[in-house]
Amino acid sequence: MDLEFDRNHIWHPYTSTLNPLTCYPVSSAAGVEIKLETGETLIDGMSSWWSTIHGYNHPHLNQAAHQQIDSVSHVMFGGITHKPAIDLCKKLVAMTPGDLDKVFLADSGSVAVEVSLKMALQYWHAKGEKRSKFLTLRDGYHGDTFAAMSVTDPDNSMHSLYKGFLPEHIFAQSPNTGFWQEWNERDLDDFKLKLTEHKTEIAAVILEPIVQGAGGMRIYHPEFLKGVRQLCNEHGILLILDEIATGFGRTGKMFACEHANVVPDILCVGKALTGGYMTLSATITSKKVADTVCGGDAGCFMHGPTFMANPLACAVANASMELLAQGDWKQQTHAIEQQFSLLLPELLKHELIEDVRWLGAIGVVQSTAPVDMEKIQQHFVEQGVWIRPFGKLIYMMPPFISQPKHIETLVNAITTALESEECFSE
Ligand code: PMP
Repeated sequence: MDLEFDRNHIWHPYTSTLNPLTCYPVSSAAGVEIKLETGETLIDGMSSWWSTIHGYNHPHLNQAAHQQIDSVSHVMFGGITHKPAIDLCKKLVAMTPGDLDKVFLADSGSVAVEVSLKMALQYWHAKGEKRSKFLTLRDGYHGDTFAAMSVTDPDNSMHSLYKGFLPEHIFAQSPNTGFWQEWNERDLDDFKLKLTEHKTEIAAVILEPIVQGAGGMRIYHPEFLKGVRQLCNEHGILLILDEIATGFGRTGKMFACEHANVVPDILCVGKALTGGYMTLSATITSKKVADTVCGGDAGCFMHGPTFMANPLACAVANASMELLAQGDWKQQTHAIEQQFSLLLPELLKHELIEDVRWLGAIGVVQSTAPVDMEKIQQHFVEQGVWIRPFGKLIYMMPPFISQPKHIETLVNAITTALESEECFSE
């Protein structure tokens, strides 16, 4: 592989072109193993950013992709429909909670979020009300496009850098009570205050249910989400839940909102929708919201991406949903959660560790000092694992098919990193 070209010409996510971090050349991947061209085999602890829940190179997903590519890879969705999209939307309507039954397919998680925000704006426009603000939480993350960034934590997404371009929305304190802790009502105070202060301007509340991912890997109490739903109901404000990271079993429930028995007005899914094979997302809403949007002046929802409902992506997503329908994910994520609950508290003995937390197939280790990315990544590769931390967060979201020995290897690699001071910056 021409790594020199890669280093000199290719932008990698959140990596400087001036002095790029090492990129490891992958030659193939199967199950939970990623093979490097340099010969190492790594146990995957990331599911390629929450997506490859069934593992890599899965025969059922491969077969779906092969079959579909021999029939039609892509065809426009305007004025045309196809079986892969119909089958997938049937499944999504059936598996999502409550009355979520109108599906808008798009290309990525960030676009699903844009779509959800636009739906909320068009909803109020159609009702003849001027509402253009969104209420969200600090420490949240919703994607890298402009509207998604505008509801992402102002410090993490560096609002100051894009001042003037980003619309300014309302941020409430994120909940402090952890998932496994005793609920503290006070957690909702700031949210309640902001919501009542701005209730006539707010089009929708948008947040990540139960797990705030890239904004801090915070796992919060279901009562917070219940309280949010109730307050939105009291004030007639739409609730958008971004399940792009948490959806499809990751937290031990099919959707994280089920931990609180809450149904949103608009739901965003992505990432694991295709089992991590390719990019596809969906924004799903109720008939009431969809009918209101389409009953307005515009007469329809104003969005239509070129690759909307790409048949290849829909076919693989159907196969991924079929695997989920077999139900093994429940026992698998429960077993991973149990193992995290036994292994992670052990790490608290180490002075470099501030906190550990877990839920379903998510394990988080928070250190007191930021990691040295280059060094810790090299350490993980030497230990035969793929874990990519950020800042003070070393986190694992392994494929559901991971066996106890794989989880043990991942946690051992973190333990040895803690013992090697050079893996941390200070
Ligand atoms: N929302 C959440 C909660 C996410 O975790 C992500 C991706 N990290 C996104 C939105 C954006 O998705 P994508 O990267 O596919 O645009």
